[in-house]
Amino acid sequence: MSFQSFIRTICIFALLVLANATEGNDPITSDFVIIGGGSSGTYAAIRLRENGKTVTLIEREAVLGGHVNTYLDPYTGQTFDYGVISFDNISVVKNYFEHFDVPLGPIGDLFTTNISYYADFATGTPLTGSPFPSDNATGAALFDYEDQLAKYPFLTNGYNLPTPVPADLLLTWGDFLKKYQLEGLAYTSFITLQGIGNILAQPTLYVMKYLPQTTVTNILTGSFLTTVHHNNHELYDKALVELGSSALVSSNVTSVVRNSGSVEVTVSTPSGTKLIQASQLLIAIQPKLESLGFLDLNVEEQYIFGQFNNSYYWDALVRNPGMPPGVCVNNANPAAALALPEMPGMYVICATILPDIYSVYYTSPYALSEDYVKNDILTTTAKLVKAFGFPPVNGTPEFVGFNDHRPFELTVSTDDIAGGFYDRLNALQGERNTWYTGATWQAHDSSLIWNWTEYTLLPRLLAN
Ligand SMILES: Cc1cc2nc3c(=O)[nH]c(=O)nc-3n(C[C@H](O)[C@H](O)[C@H](O)COP(=O)(O)OP(=O)(O)OC[C@H]3O[C@@H](n4cnc5c(N)ncnc54)[C@H](O)[C@@H]3O)c2cc1C
Repeated sequence: MSFQSFIRTICIFALLVLANATEGNDPITSDFVIIGGGSSGTYAAIRLRENGKTVTLIEREAVLGGHVNTYLDPYTGQTFDYGVISFDNISVVKNYFEHFDVPLGPIGDLFTTNISYYADFATGTPLTGSPFPSDNATGAALFDYEDQLAKYPFLTNGYNLPTPVPADLLLTWGDFLKKYQLEGLAYTSFITLQGIGNILAQPTLYVMKYLPQTTVTNILTGSFLTTVHHNNHELYDKALVELGSSALVSSNVTSVVRNSGSVEVTVSTPSGTKLIQASQLLIAIQPKLESLGFLDLNVEEQYIFGQFNNSYYWDALVRNPGMPPGVCVNNANPAAALALPEMPGMYVICATILPDIYSVYYTSPYALSEDYVKNDILTTTAKLVKAFGFPPVNGTPEFVGFNDHRPFELTVSTDDIAGGFYDRLNALQGERNTWYTGATWQAHDSSLIWNWTEYTLLPRLLAN
């Protein structure tokens, strides 16, 4: 390099640094700064703007959508959702999808299942038929469960628990099912309410939040909705376009300072460090203490967020797992309580509407590495293929999608629940110009998170 080109390179570099620094020093101002562009954060951003507020939405990934995973099959050009799939037929959902012109329709058959098998995945042993109750027994249990749900109308909206917290909500789900002879519901709850580790050990409060009346009705009447194009990401891609420069993706919050009337957020973005000055902060990520390192937490916030434990949840798409078309194998253990297998492990491996592609869902009550989970999926699948004696297929198994959804379900101990934890959690709303939304405040259910954000949180945000 000549001396002149060396000087020119140095000058360009200096100009770029200066440009970034200038950008960083030029604060973005908005009414709200929202951290987390998943289900709840994106919804809140869109609706606040529709209500005349300015927002800055910060998302660490390159796209919005959080737990949404949409696969584009390079061979067929078809899209397929294997993260968030189903929605409720309620006005908030319909309005939101209509706004982005993303059509919704009946969920229909996402899985080309011609035949369902059952096996003990721990050993690979095939079972003769299902060890679970018949559809009729499940339906009857769901009706009885509706009577139980009706006792707790306060569960519909957020976590506004009475004092004392009803003792039944503090029972483990296993004990609750036994107490009310709802054993017929065990498998449906296990397979529908995925990602929460060993469901029978979970406090009933969390399971009932995750299995609300809307979901029960959808199961009983088959009325879940999904996107007609099997492309839930379309909504988030369009939301990103609509938000334009109000959304900072691939961006990480490095610090938040909350003053009496404002919030200052420093963000590291692909185009340099930016300072955002806003009136209010909306946190739309899971509030685990270790996820909130950027926040100037006070003692109460540290205590509250420090109480949360979490479960682990992974989804995957495997091409050529060695199974014939149209096959679904379900995990079961006839020797275990209610035949539900002990987790960590896979729930199921199922043929999808995409040729040669099978979906897998996996949970654990404790942390596991990506390598461990992938290896367990492949080893278990190979065991099943061998044990069932499936005929050889072309190709070797290959992950074409794999996502770690940790931290998934945030829970606290039953002592904490009984001791008024959720009153203290709710009391944080609006304190120090800070608000919260997302699964922890409602349930892992996008439709109900949007409903809660719309009717409970938004009026309070707008009143500020
Ligand atoms: C595999 C799977 C399938 C599901 N299926 C369904 C379904 O069919 N129907 C349904 O209703 N619900 C479903 N759910 C549950 C539903 O998706 C969640 O409840 C919902 O996404 C929670 O929304 P949220 O906004 O709380 O979190 P998320 O959607 O996870 O959003 C949080 C966002 O914050 C971002 N983020 C995290 N930390 C930071 C940070 N420090 N800075 C910036 N950004 C950050 C994340 O990248 C993410 O985008 C499913 C969940 C999973 C995992």
